Amino acid sequence: MSESTKSEGYSDSIKKKLRAIPKVDECLGWIEEHVEAPKAFVKAAVRELLANERDAILSGAGSKIEDLTKKVLVPELKKRVAAKVASNFRTVINATGVIIHTNMGRSLLPPEAMVGLTTVGSRYSNLEFDLTTGKRGSRYSLVEDLLCELTGAEAGLVVNNNAAAVLLVLDTLANGKEVIVSRGQLVEIGGSFRIPEVMKKSGATLVEVGATNRTHLKDYEGAITDETSLLLKVHMSNYRIIGFTSEVPLEDLVSLGRKHKIPVVDDLGSGSLVDLTQFGLEKEPTVQEVIRAGVDVVTFSGDKLLGGPQAGLIVGRKKIIDRIKKNHLNRALRIDKFTLAALEAVFRLYFDEEKKGTIPTLAMMAMPVDVIERRAKRLTRRVKKLLGDHCDMEIVAVESRVGGGAMPEQGLPSRAVSLRPRSMKLSLFENKLREAPVPIIGRIENERMLLDMRTVADDEVVIVAQTLCFIFGVE
Ligand SMILES: *Cc1c(COP(=O)(O)O)cnc(C)c1O
Repeated sequence: MSESTKSEGYSDSIKKKLRAIPKVDECLGWIEEHVEAPKAFVKAAVRELLANERDAILSGAGSKIEDLTKKVLVPELKKRVAAKVASNFRTVINATGVIIHTNMGRSLLPPEAMVGLTTVGSRYSNLEFDLTTGKRGSRYSLVEDLLCELTGAEAGLVVNNNAAAVLLVLDTLANGKEVIVSRGQLVEIGGSFRIPEVMKKSGATLVEVGATNRTHLKDYEGAITDETSLLLKVHMSNYRIIGFTSEVPLEDLVSLGRKHKIPVVDDLGSGSLVDLTQFGLEKEPTVQEVIRAGVDVVTFSGDKLLGGPQAGLIVGRKKIIDRIKKNHLNRALRIDKFTLAALEAVFRLYFDEEKKGTIPTLAMMAMPVDVIERRAKRLTRRVKKLLGDHCDMEIVAVESRVGGGAMPEQGLPSRAVSLRPRSMKLSLFENKLREAPVPIIGRIENERMLLDMRTVADDEVVIVAQTLCFIFGVE
């Protein structure tokens, strides 16, 4: 818009354009015959479009008058209505190679868990009904025995997620008291879950000990007062301190806690039940090992390395867990029946040596490179000729990530299909993949789009192929 137009207020041309904007009812009449959608969606689409046109005209960037016609606006309206009718919650193809991707739903559930979800969703259940006594039961009892058997803990309970688990533990054991934490472990775990802030919410006072890179047992010991309620260890989920570092071994922390009769709590975060070295990853203590080391309470997520639904698992000594169970906050953080059903199914798979490996998160970690390579070849075979001049394509060696804050700097050797479009910019290509009917999310590296095939399911390969053909307009 030129200066002169601005100073004159709305120019004649703008006024004329505003007058040319069709009325809501007029648009509704145009579109009625074209779409079968709930009236509310159609109306909202019309209003949005007209408001957009108005704003655009007022800002000086508006359409030409001849664009405010039925012919131009109807296709745009159809698009908007279609977007409103389509589900907001959609499946995407995760080609990032990050197995536990928080933004894409973390762990995938095995079929056994899906059966549990369907059943419990469509039938009444014994969620809080004790079938032996006929009296009210506790929902926690549905998984507690399995959880204890798996982890070796005396008792356990489950809540909405691990952040809730940490909050509940602190609120129960440390409200109004002091909690000692190593300075190097005051972590923030995505989505603004920060240990110091959770601590504040729980009414506990944080006592930081040590330096960022090094903390010694004597630092903990020196900080113990009559007000100390617990010693907290937090797993360094999404980062590493490397170089001149020192952490107090868990066993020493446990001995110190015993000596002073102060409980030791370990927020494991990812919390694996299996030894990760079998996947070629660095050794991380399993939940069982941490319990065996004598830690009083352990918290971990249900949907990270465990491979189950979103949940926060709390296991440990019966005396302490009983106190946690009685906390009224529990009611607000409680787990729902779907999660319990899925969790029980996943727990049961862990007892079955043959089936354990089919838990998708574990299966994806264990997947050999040659299997991933075959998958990549299936994709390139399908589309290489078709895409021909449109896109350079090759299979390249990459590293997948476990994700979910587990082992941040370790990769799993993998294969990706590397795509370099010739007929469009990489950013546009990325856009088109993301906005496809089944969105495909890859990662851009060295001017190429990489589709890591570790996290692309076998039956998704054909969808990826179709999407690529669709994007480049080839059949
Ligand atoms: C992931 C994580 C949390 C939060 O767990 P959610 O299940 O996402 O609520 C807390 N602590 C640690 C150490 C974590 O890694």
